[in-house]
Amino acid sequence: MDTNRARAAIAEHRRIDQASDLGGARRPRVVIVGAGFGGLSAARALRKAPVDVTVIDRRNYHLFQPLLYQVATAGLSPADIASPIRAILRDQPNTSVLLARVEAVDRAARCVIADGRSVPFDYLVVASGARHAYFGHEEWEPFAPGLKKIEDATDIRRNILLAFEKAETELDPVERARLLTLVVIGAGPTGVEMAGAIAELARRALAADFRAIDPAQARVILIEAGPRVLPTFPESLSAAAMRSLQRLGVQVRVGAAVTGCDAAGVTVGDAHIATRTIVWAAGVMASPAARWLGTDKDRAGRVPVGPDLALPDDPSIFVIGDTAAATGADGRMLPGVAPVAKQQGAYVARVIAARVAGRSPSPRFRYRSYGNLATVGRRAAVADFGFVRVTGSLAWLLWGVVHVFFLIGFRNRLAVLIQWLWSYLTFESGSRLITGSMD
Ligand SMILES: Cc1cc2nc3c(=O)[nH]c(=O)nc-3n(C[C@H](O)[C@H](O)[C@H](O)COP(=O)(O)OP(=O)(O)OC[C@H]3O[C@@H](n4cnc5c(N)ncnc54)[C@H](O)[C@@H]3O)c2cc1C
Repeated sequence: MDTNRARAAIAEHRRIDQASDLGGARRPRVVIVGAGFGGLSAARALRKAPVDVTVIDRRNYHLFQPLLYQVATAGLSPADIASPIRAILRDQPNTSVLLARVEAVDRAARCVIADGRSVPFDYLVVASGARHAYFGHEEWEPFAPGLKKIEDATDIRRNILLAFEKAETELDPVERARLLTLVVIGAGPTGVEMAGAIAELARRALAADFRAIDPAQARVILIEAGPRVLPTFPESLSAAAMRSLQRLGVQVRVGAAVTGCDAAGVTVGDAHIATRTIVWAAGVMASPAARWLGTDKDRAGRVPVGPDLALPDDPSIFVIGDTAAATGADGRMLPGVAPVAKQQGAYVARVIAARVAGRSPSPRFRYRSYGNLATVGRRAAVADFGFVRVTGSLAWLLWGVVHVFFLIGFRNRLAVLIQWLWSYLTFESGSRLITGSMD
């Protein structure tokens, strides 16, 4: 945004602000940036508070990212895991939704600048999430797309399905082998889920559909720089996930740091893997909120916040979810997962409501972890509840129940349940559409 536009936006904000202050009857204005897990949870928890809430998002829908990998592997359609923000907040008369991209925050003028408009606030909640990061190798991105948005998922789905289509007509055996090699980089929950789902797609859903190739012979390779898959899970569950991946035919390479990605494939140290399909599931970087707010940031771009999730020098500006560098009661950094963002959203809403009511808010956010889950494929998952660890079919059922339960909207829950039941009974993948360019 150029300086003149920014100045004009700020002047406009001051005009609106002065006008609304006349008579002193104005309710406190809460602006929430981002309608992901954190922002939406904050907005919903403020529904009965005597405040005016504005939720700003650059998309008109809330995305359930934990099931994005199923869109990328043709198991679900985009609309199954997304819900319009306006519809979600329809019954909250104190809340407005603004479809706009935030570009800056003017802390002195107390306004957010979004698409050249100025949106004034008394309290600001920044919940703008994170995007994938390439550890300083942004040049890898065109060859190794990450998974964060619906567009990423449909691009990856296209890459995977096109690889099989092109292999079917390819006469050169070397090129055909390259097409039938699919590589996932990063063996956290997303990478493990992606690799398992690609292997199932090749071995089951696509197995009988081609004539010149056998999709079941496709090589699915999962590369992890650390010593084991699912590094944030206990070792016994990592080992169980590893066994499930191997049963599916996934070749897992741990302790292998990627040193290059290009049109020819992936380089790992001295070894080169020839492939045209690479999925990046290895790193994330917070949204540029530190730049908007003019604050410090940590190595992952996150904004350091105090125990109440507010900026240390401004108790009216909160940063939550994947954008915040917040520590738990044990002093360790809280993980970038949906339950942290949701609980933080609900907590800052309580803090704001208490302050508006003249009460003292609880001074510290406390995260309650209810467990970690990751699925590897059909009837294979791992679940860590601290006091008990579960693997296999039971963990897989729990994983399914939890994900359907937390999906937003009855239509989405029903659609996903029906799709999963259908896939379970028929081994089919219902959303095998190649959309966009055929190149
Ligand atoms: C593929 C994938 C799988 C995952 N699987 C799991 C899982 O199984 N379990 C789990 O707990 N967590 C999982 N996560 C992590 C989880 O999704 C995040 O921790 C969670 O979404 C963080 O919530 P948030 O509110 O901070 O950000 P998000 O939910 O990412 O929401 C951020 C919002 O901000 C909006 N936004 C960003 N920039 C701007 C801007 N400039 N202007 C306006 N709006 C903006 C975005 O459009 C978005 O709606 C997964 C993440 C990914 C990517």
